[in-house]
Amino acid sequence: MDCIFCKIVSGEIPSVKVYEDDRVLAFMDINPINEGHLLIIPKAHAATIHEIAEGDFLAVMSATRKLSAAVKKTLNPDGINLLQLNGKAANQVVPHLHVHIVPRWFGDGLTISQWEMVAGNMEKIKAVAEKIQSEIVN
Ligand code: AMP
Ligand code: ZN
Repeated sequence: MDCIFCKIVSGEIPSVKVYEDDRVLAFMDINPINEGHLLIIPKAHAATIHEIAEGDFLAVMSATRKLSAAVKKTLNPDGINLLQLNGKAANQVVPHLHVHIVPRWFGDGLTISQWEMVAGNMEKIKAVAEKIQSEIVN
């Protein structure tokens, strides 16, 4: 398959690996937005949250937790952003699911997690909550 992250899994494209197990690979982002920016991916190709098998997603999240602890010990950031983008409208560029670990420091100037708080319409909020609730599949 013509997928850049599948090629990283197979070794066709080089990467700076930091963690690997039977389901998951983690490697450094080559365009880091802060020191220590890394990516965690499932080895099995899945484009987004809608395609990934539950077990692979849980494995990715478990590795994300372990790696966040290692990043904290190593770089001692003031905080960490976890980012996971799905679809072009959400600014996903590489269509192979990945979680970003972005270490954060006070005053680092990044704006990735800043948005203006504007109170919503509670009737609309409740109406959409009910619709979502009715579509949950266990
Ligand atoms: P996004 O799909 O928007 O969540 O982001 C894709 C991320 O993959 C970007 O942060 C890129 O810098 C990163 N990226 C793209 N190609 C590579 C590569 N060959 N090795 C490491 N990171 C990459
Ligand atoms: Zn892939």
